[in-house]
Order: sequence, then C-alpha cells, then structure tokens
Amino acid sequence: MENSKQMRTWLDDLGLDHPLVIAGPCSAETEEQVLKIAHELKDTDVNYYRAGIWKPRTRPGNFEGVGALGLKWLQKVKEETGLKTATEVANRAHVELALEHDIDLLWVGARSTVSPFIVQEIAEALKGTDKIVLVKNPVNPDLSLWLGAVERMYSSDVKKLGVIHRGFSTYEKSKYRNIPEWQLAIELQTKFPDLPLINDPSHITGNRNMIFDVSQTALDLNYDGLIIETHHDPENAWSDAAQQVTPKTLVQIMKDLRIRKETDEEAEYNNKLSNLRAQIDIIDNQLIDTLGKRMKVSDGIGELKKQRNVAVLQSNRWNQILGAMILEGESKGLSEEFVLKMFKAIHQESINHQEKIMQS
Ligand code: PEP
Ligand code: MN
Repeated sequence: MENSKQMRTWLDDLGLDHPLVIAGPCSAETEEQVLKIAHELKDTDVNYYRAGIWKPRTRPGNFEGVGALGLKWLQKVKEETGLKTATEVANRAHVELALEHDIDLLWVGARSTVSPFIVQEIAEALKGTDKIVLVKNPVNPDLSLWLGAVERMYSSDVKKLGVIHRGFSTYEKSKYRNIPEWQLAIELQTKFPDLPLINDPSHITGNRNMIFDVSQTALDLNYDGLIIETHHDPENAWSDAAQQVTPKTLVQIMKDLRIRKETDEEAEYNNKLSNLRAQIDIIDNQLIDTLGKRMKVSDGIGELKKQRNVAVLQSNRWNQILGAMILEGESKGLSEEFVLKMFKAIHQESINHQEKIMQS
C-alpha cells in the first residue's frame, strides 16, 4: 500500500516534529475544570485543546453540554495557555458561534456525519473558512457516507480539511466501544492520501487501558495524529468517564509511542514494514475472532446432537465442506494442501468442543 503524502497540507504547514495531538475533556463542565486541564496540558506535545460544548447524547437526560458559555472558557484557554482550541459543531448556529469565538478547529461528530442534510447545513455555514475542519466517520461503517461529508466540505471551499476515525457501532458485543474496522480507514487513506487522518482511540476503545495500543496501531498505519480525551479527574467526568486519561497519563503515552518519520531509505523501509505488520495484526485478530464465532456455532450443533443422541462425526457433511473450501481456497490463491491442513485442525477443535458437550 502506497500512502506517502504528495501534497503539502495545512498539517505540514504546522511544522510539527510529531503527530498532531488534540487533547482535552470529552465535555466542558465548568470554567474551572476547563482551565485546570488546559494548564496541565500546556508545554506538552498537545497542539489543540478539545472540549465538547454541545454534547450529542444517545439518550436524553444525560449531561448535554454547557452550550455557548463554554466557548468563552475556550477563549480563556487560548489567552492563558496559548493552546489552540477545538470543539464539535452540529448545526449552523454552532458553527456561527464557534467562528465568532475564534475556535481554531471544528469537528463534525459521528452522529452528524450520517445525515447529509446536517452535513450540508454545516458545510454551508463554514463556506470558505480558513479554520481546520475535521469530519468524523459516521456511526455506521459506510465509507460513502464519510466520503460524501468530506466532498460537501470541499464543495463549500473548506481548505483545511481532515478526517477523524472514531470507530463504528455494532449490535454485537466486542472489546471495543466502537469497532475500528481499520480497513475502512485504510481505504479512505488510499483514496485521499493527502487528507490528514486522525485517530480517536478514546471513542474506539471506550476504555482508557486500551488507548495506548490503539494509538500505536494507528501510528504504525501512518495516521497523522491522535485525538485523546483527557480529564484531570476521569472517574468523575460528566461524560465518557471510562475512556478519559489524566494529563499525566497522556504525556506518558506520548513518550512511549513509537513514532516513525520517513527520513531516509532505511527509515522508509522500516515504516513500510511496520505498516504492513500492523495490517497483518489486524487480520490475525479477525481470524481468531471468526474462529471463536465458528466454535460457538459448533457448540450449538453439539447441544442439538446431544439432545437427539446423534454421533458427533458426520463424514458426509464434512467431505462436502472440505470440497467446497478447497475450491474457494483455490480462487484466493491458497494451495489444496494448506486448506486441507487448516480445515483438519479446525474440524478437530470443533469435534473436541462437541465431545465435551456430549460428556457434560
Ligand atoms: C466526542 O468527540 O466527544 C464525540 C461526541 O465523539 P463522536 O462524535 O465520535 O461520538
Ligand atoms: Mn466523548
């Protein structure tokens, strides 16, 4: 996969020697809280200070943000710490207020990206802006919807554009709050190699203990930056308490992350290698996940066989599966020998599972 950047973008113009870092609380809660966190993030790698002012809550009755008042607090952050500021906008009024208060970076949230009407309204309100605008992926894994929102911003002459990958919601239980579906973001990166791509490990994981690993994967995949929710007292945050880290932890994370720069041939080789390895790691995890699911289904068959007192091994059915998989494997460039070996191993594990059920 080729994704070396060709064009100079607003990101290059920032002249950073590390990935872009956006950090700050999920929500602005009080003036004191906003300023306290900002001061703790001053003189770190953090470039933009984020705080949600209008919070799109899935269910009503939760904290819905402090509203326009919070924009004044962000202005104070800029005056007192020199940090640039960032917030989410979800309609025309938000955009107008954010621009009036000189917010430097505006992002479109995942729940807005799903709605072309809202995206269009935001794009029109932003027309010709020189502020940075980042479009989060929609909550559902739909690349066209994401691209469509980016295109609407382009058409509205937004010049400093980028995207944030914050993962996708699923009905299925997973260790992530929003599963990353990395291949979707990689596809977007391949289509628009010059569009800065930021990872949001906070909303992907929903869990502060997983922030580091997801951030490292993102950097190995050549992401341009990270947006990480940071709070001085995460446990007592008014929203997203489980996923926020303290400023101190954030600094440690930034220190521990392996950051690659394409400086020479050797570095470029290493960069490409770790990029490919990160893709392999993602696929290996998917393989294990899929095999786990297959065994669960197989357990269900075991239960049925037990009820009916049927033998575990059904050779006809098994030969059918093998034949079909050998053909399928051939079409993907996999040798018959490999497919046979692999399915024998899978079958054996399946039999072991079912035997256990029969004996229970
Ligand atoms: C957020 O960044 O606080 C937020 C609401 O994110 P998302 O739109 O990704 O859910
Ligand atoms: Mn949040």
